[in-house]
Amino acid sequence: MGVLLVTGGSRGIGAGVARSAAENGWHIGINYTSNKESAEDVAAYVRSQGVKACVVKADVSNPDNVEAMFSRTEEELGPITGLVNSAGISSGIGPIEDHDLEQTHHMLEINVFGLYACCRSAVQRMAKRHGGQGGTIVNISSAAARTHAPGSFVDYAAGKAAVDSLTIGLAQEQAPQGIFVYGVRPGVINTDMVKEAAKISPAWLEGILAGTPNGRIGEVEDVSSAVLWLLSEDAHHSTGSIIDISGGRATQ
Ligand code: NAP
Repeated sequence: MGVLLVTGGSRGIGAGVARSAAENGWHIGINYTSNKESAEDVAAYVRSQGVKACVVKADVSNPDNVEAMFSRTEEELGPITGLVNSAGISSGIGPIEDHDLEQTHHMLEINVFGLYACCRSAVQRMAKRHGGQGGTIVNISSAAARTHAPGSFVDYAAGKAAVDSLTIGLAQEQAPQGIFVYGVRPGVINTDMVKEAAKISPAWLEGILAGTPNGRIGEVEDVSSAVLWLLSEDAHHSTGSIIDISGGRATQ
C-alpha cells in the first residue's frame, strides 16, 4: 500500500475512509480545516493499525493551503499515491430564491474549486510524465448530482454534477499517466452534515427516507467499503466510474 491523503479526513465520510484505509495498510494524511481534535483522534486510530499518520490543517478552497498540504504530507509520509476528496460542506435548504449567494459561493469554492485544486496537485505529483508512479483519485460526489435536489439545494447538486464531469474527464485524460479516477455518489449518510440539515428541516430527511427503497440512512462504512475497493488495483479497468451508494434510490 502507499500514502493516501484524505481531505476532510477529520470527520464523517473522510474519517471513515481514513480508518478503513489504515486497516488495509495505507499510511494516511488527514486533512482538516478547524477540528484539530477530531483529526488527532483519527490519526491515533490510524497509528494504532501500525501505519503512519500525519494531520494537516488546510482550507482546500485556498490554493496555497492545498499546495502546502500536499508538500507536508509527502515530507512526512512519502510520495502520495492515493487521494480521496471528501472535504465539503452543504448549503442552505430551500428554493433558489431563498438561497444566500455568499453561502452558495463559499460552498462552491470548497466543493468544486477546492476539489479541483486538490486533483491538480495530485496529478502534478502522480503523473508518469512528471516522474510520478501513478495513483488513484476518488471524488466524493452526491446522489444530489442525479436527483438535482429541487426545492432543497440545487446549488449543491449542481456543484456535485460538476465534480462528476471532472471525474470522468480526468479519468480519460490521465489514464495514460497511470492515474485512475473514480467517484462515489452517497445518498443520505449518517454524519454531522446530515444531522445539521435534519435539524433545520426534518421534513427533508423524512422525504428522502420515504424515497429510499431499502428504508434506511447510509452509514459511513457503506461509503468507505466502496472507496477501499476503488483504491485497489482490482478497480483499475473501471476508471471513470461513479458508484451510487444510496439504498437503491431512484436518482434520475
Ligand atoms: P462532515 O461530517 O460535515 O465532515 C466534513 C469534513 O470536511 C470535515 O472533515 C471538515 O473538516 C472538512 N472540511 C470542511 N470544509 C473544509 C475546507 N474548506 N477545507 C478542508 N476541509 C474542510 O461531512 P460528510 O457528511 O462527511 O461529507 C463529506 C463529503 O461527502 C462532502 O463532500 C459531502 O458533500 C459528501 N456527501 C455527504 C453526504 C451525507 O449524507 N453525509 C451525502 C452525499 C455526499 P473539520 O472537521 O475541520 O471541520
